[in-house]
Amino acid sequence: METGYLLSEIAQMSGGTLLGDSSSKVLRLFFDSRLVFEPEGALFFALKGGQNNGHYYIPELYSKGVRFFVVDRSYKPASGMTDAGWILVDDTLKALQDVAAFHRQQYHPQVLAITGSNGKTIVKEWLAQALNDDVPMVRSPRSYNSQIGVPLSVWQLKSRHRLAVFEAGISRKGEMSRLKEIIQPTLGLITNIGTAHLENFESQSSILNEKLGLFDDVEVLFYSRDAQLIHEAVMARWPDKTCFTWGRHPESDLRLLSSGEVLNFQWKGKSFEVEIPFSDFVSLENVMPVVLFMLFRGYNESLIAQRVATLEPVAMRMERKEGLNNCLIINDSYNSDFTSLEIALDFLDQQGRKKSMSRTVVLSDMLQTGYTDSLLYPRVAGLLQSRKIDRLIGVGDHIINYQASFRPGDRFFRSTDELLAALPGFSFRNEAILIKGARSFAFERVSDLLEQKQHCTVMEVNLDALISNLNVFRQHLNHNTKVLAMVKAFSYGSGSYEIAAALQYHKVDYLGVAFADEGMELRRAGITLPIIVMNPEMKTFGQMLEYGLEPEVYSFKVLKAFEKAVRESGVSEASVHIKLDTGMNRFGFESSDADELARQIKAMPHLKVRSVFSHLVGSDDVKHDDFTRRQIDVFDRFTTYLKTVLGYSFIRHILNSAGIERFSESQYEMVRIGIGMYGLSAINDAQMQNVVTLKSYVSQIRTVHDDATVGYGRKGFIQAGGKLAVIPVGYADGLNRHLSNGVGEVLINGRLYPIIGNICMDTCMIDVSNGNVLEGDEVVIFGDDYPVTVLSDKLNTIPYEVLTGISRRVKRVYFRE
Ligand SMILES: *Cc1c(COP(=O)(O)O)cnc(C)c1O
Repeated sequence: METGYLLSEIAQMSGGTLLGDSSSKVLRLFFDSRLVFEPEGALFFALKGGQNNGHYYIPELYSKGVRFFVVDRSYKPASGMTDAGWILVDDTLKALQDVAAFHRQQYHPQVLAITGSNGKTIVKEWLAQALNDDVPMVRSPRSYNSQIGVPLSVWQLKSRHRLAVFEAGISRKGEMSRLKEIIQPTLGLITNIGTAHLENFESQSSILNEKLGLFDDVEVLFYSRDAQLIHEAVMARWPDKTCFTWGRHPESDLRLLSSGEVLNFQWKGKSFEVEIPFSDFVSLENVMPVVLFMLFRGYNESLIAQRVATLEPVAMRMERKEGLNNCLIINDSYNSDFTSLEIALDFLDQQGRKKSMSRTVVLSDMLQTGYTDSLLYPRVAGLLQSRKIDRLIGVGDHIINYQASFRPGDRFFRSTDELLAALPGFSFRNEAILIKGARSFAFERVSDLLEQKQHCTVMEVNLDALISNLNVFRQHLNHNTKVLAMVKAFSYGSGSYEIAAALQYHKVDYLGVAFADEGMELRRAGITLPIIVMNPEMKTFGQMLEYGLEPEVYSFKVLKAFEKAVRESGVSEASVHIKLDTGMNRFGFESSDADELARQIKAMPHLKVRSVFSHLVGSDDVKHDDFTRRQIDVFDRFTTYLKTVLGYSFIRHILNSAGIERFSESQYEMVRIGIGMYGLSAINDAQMQNVVTLKSYVSQIRTVHDDATVGYGRKGFIQAGGKLAVIPVGYADGLNRHLSNGVGEVLINGRLYPIIGNICMDTCMIDVSNGNVLEGDEVVIFGDDYPVTVLSDKLNTIPYEVLTGISRRVKRVYFRE
């Protein structure tokens, strides 16, 4: 059974003031206004900051049945919400953290906190796989390791748990001490120390010291003896702490003697062998702490070897892929707890909105949820119903016993094999299908059958990073400033519907496209946001009106033609967006046109000026700042005057991405964000994340026996004994031919290798003579660890050109972390 706290108790824990109903129990905490299923007993924390301001969603949540809210002291509830309970606090995030910290103190399990620059999630997940339910255990969902994620993780702790494993991640100084108060770890593990987020810290040792602060009170600390920096810092800070170390270093407690297909370890003078099902370096690094922790818990070597041999890769993300017969596949086989099902359904909701699509969920038994089946499956049924899922396909011995809780049309199978056998009979078509299963069900076999064959080169788009960047930009804005997201040119190369759907879901106010057909494509796919067409062609006006697209009007000629189209179509009122030229010398009215423009528009009762805007030409560059200010000045005077002569107000907007970062005082009522969503910042904002990764794989390795030339025109030269990797990406995919002959490089297994010879239409060759590269290895052309700006700099161009130049034949894969 779920236990809970009284609202009055929560008020006490968080130092808040309670108003209204206090006698009810709080069962769940949440902060994401979309994840509200079972409103009864749910307590909403209205968080502010990088994310949307949670306070805006309160009326909507109230109407859905939520009655408990933690809000800012300054918040004034609208009238009518009389039966709600309110806790007023100074800082809603701190309140969430205080509540979690209090909850933590009620229990006394062993609590292992994991931090480090990489590998936290993998080590945590592998520990869970390796301990295999031997001990009642709770762990952070996915990679919930932030200031918000940690409190939610800790809140899951219950009295029956004997072991808790929580991740802690920080991006700024000062954050770790908060996490420590919430987690109160008894054991600590630091995976490694790298350079991620270095921009926010003075140096590596200052990051390390911040991280180690988490472990001041732990009884036992685990770390890699190979990381000399960590070792020295630990010794200096706590000369007497009990530590267990892993690594190749002779002083390691768990010493790796040799690696290859079999790992040779030494522990307490005894050596033993472990086989791991992975061959890469990173997996090896992550498996050592797992082995060490198992030894610490008293497992014997043979059981350890047995468990480690069956570790499975941790797929840390949900992927959206094109399926056969116009289906959309969302693949999420990460874990199967209730929260992750909610998150996956949320993604399905966001991406599967095309009007004609029905929604199917393929779900296995849910393991390790902490609920009894009789509680769990009716709850799952309720969740699916509230999310308007058309049909469930349930797989497993447990879920099948609860068929009666689901709807008559739902189908059930005992095993994945049974489902696979029945799959052809389903003839999926025009469906959004979420495939969600515990690892042991091997649902990748299901998704393999439903997915379209992958083109071997893919552009991966991280939708979470895109939204996170959007929210970083929102930090520069006032709460009521609207956001127009530019999705022109196939959303800067990254896709159309998928990006627009994510943006619509995260409540941007407008979308901007270059041409009418881009807007029509979005409408056909179910996008309902207002859309501005920046280059409207006159012959498309009729269709634009039909599809509810709003034109940029940049000349008297366009104005007249559009008005005529509106009259002929019988639409009673259509919005237009007036473009003023303040320095681009491209499209737009001049300042001196104001009187004539107002006169003509007033005589056009069917037209409404919805917004007036202009575009900055050098907002990213200090050397143009004077010019930028002049542009803004001209715009300001024009819009003020136009409002007077027109007799009504309209939305004003002039800032693009760099403008938002550098001239936020001129945000007016709306801003237009473009390249910034992709993580490119004019002020090198360290909070930005990479969104787009272009990757391929090595399709062939050639060893050259005699000195030879490579490719067309014999431009590349390779010595006898050298090695070439052939990769299936060429200039027709958007790999610019100017990157030939060593100008460009690609990243394979974390190392850069030069392109050799001329890039061909569909392929190119890489010189991998001095490396250990195998057929099938992944090749990154640009991405997280090799920014697109490196390429654009080499090409003497801007990242916009590289991104929009990736051809549409390269498959786009969208994912969430
Ligand atoms: C493309 C475009 C933007 C976005 O510019 P970024 O530099 O990508 O932020 C804004 N406004 C207009 C009119 C545009 O054409």
